[in-house]
Amino acid sequence: MVKPIGVLALQGDYREHIATFGAIGVEAVKVRSVEEIDACAGLVIPGGESSVIHRLSATYNLFQPIRERIADGLPTFGTCAGLIMLASEILDKTDDQEPFGGLDVSVRRNAFGNQLDSFETDLEFSGIESLVHAAFIRAPIVERVGKDVEVTAKLSDGRIVGVRQGNVMGISFHPEVTGETRIHALFAEIVAAAR
Ligand code: GLN
Repeated sequence: MVKPIGVLALQGDYREHIATFGAIGVEAVKVRSVEEIDACAGLVIPGGESSVIHRLSATYNLFQPIRERIADGLPTFGTCAGLIMLASEILDKTDDQEPFGGLDVSVRRNAFGNQLDSFETDLEFSGIESLVHAAFIRAPIVERVGKDVEVTAKLSDGRIVGVRQGNVMGISFHPEVTGETRIHALFAEIVAAAR
């Protein structure tokens, strides 16, 4: 039996991720326990509020297991708050917030400030032929990338909004809310190749 992709369902827009995979015929299920995560071939950390995802993962005894599985090579994809949780360093984090890690990057939370909380734009994405329509909602920016990190997307001013390191992908925006399925398809390919 082919293992599905698990979407961490503690907080945030996990339903939209499951629906996006469904739209391209990829089985995805919500996960809230170590057993459920271990029955999956890949993991998605959704958008939402990263400090809450951190806190709830600790409450559910998932923080350390998730951290270890990502370090052991579990293909993982984070959007927005999910990207923040995959960073090795969070800038402007809440006091006790810690990331799962997986990407050697520094990510600043809420990087667009109050005047430009949320916006949409089209951008190039490596591996995707035509422009991707991207929705940014209180979004983070990647301010530093380590030497093994590939930049997959930038804003027109050069700020980094997409990164990949091995089987771990993170993006600042939310394809799962705009009907954009191609980035989820890329992740499904990474998961299939790693199976
Ligand atoms: N600002 C949120 C955070 O810090 C992320 C917002 C989002 O996921 N849309 O986690």
